[in-house]
Amino acid sequence: MTSKKHYALQEPYDPQSRFEGLERLEPEFWKKKKLEDMSKEEWELLCDGCGKCCLNKIEIKGKIKFTCTHCRFLDTQSCLCKIYEHRFEKVDDCRDIDLAAIREKPAWLPKTCAYWLLDNGYDLPDWHPLKTGHADSVHRAAMSVRGRGTISETGITDYENYVIDWQDL
Ligand code: SF4
Ligand code: SF4
Repeated sequence: MTSKKHYALQEPYDPQSRFEGLERLEPEFWKKKKLEDMSKEEWELLCDGCGKCCLNKIEIKGKIKFTCTHCRFLDTQSCLCKIYEHRFEKVDDCRDIDLAAIREKPAWLPKTCAYWLLDNGYDLPDWHPLKTGHADSVHRAAMSVRGRGTISETGITDYENYVIDWQDL
């Protein structure tokens, strides 16, 4: 008997739930701790939910260029992964955001990425959900992929024709 892999879409999830009860955490913990010293909860909260790391990228002359094509499993309205629990088994080049990824050369995270900012001595931007208390502040600030005309990667092979130059990449 063969078994068939099943990839369920993620359960309905309210992004705001991550940012409820933040008072349980040390205030502005991101200014006081190095990334390597953060708890798993603190680490996860740093992600602003922009979805920009799920855009496809290509390397040109040693530099990473983003394209307006996105992973087929990215929901561009919520900017969430549709298969979060199965992402590494389903998508070969889906990357965990760990210290190695953040420090990799050439750099491939967007310049607004909270992990990259903190690791390079910057504060979080004012629109970051940890500062506003609202998960959707990243979208209201137009810093996510929502509503920006990206297209699914399905069927695309000539990525060099889709390179973009957004200010926030
Ligand atoms: S780019 Fe950084 S902050 Fe944005 S979704 Fe990816 S890991 Fe999170
Ligand atoms: S599989 Fe990976 S790259 Fe694709 S949407 Fe999910 S997290 Fe992003």
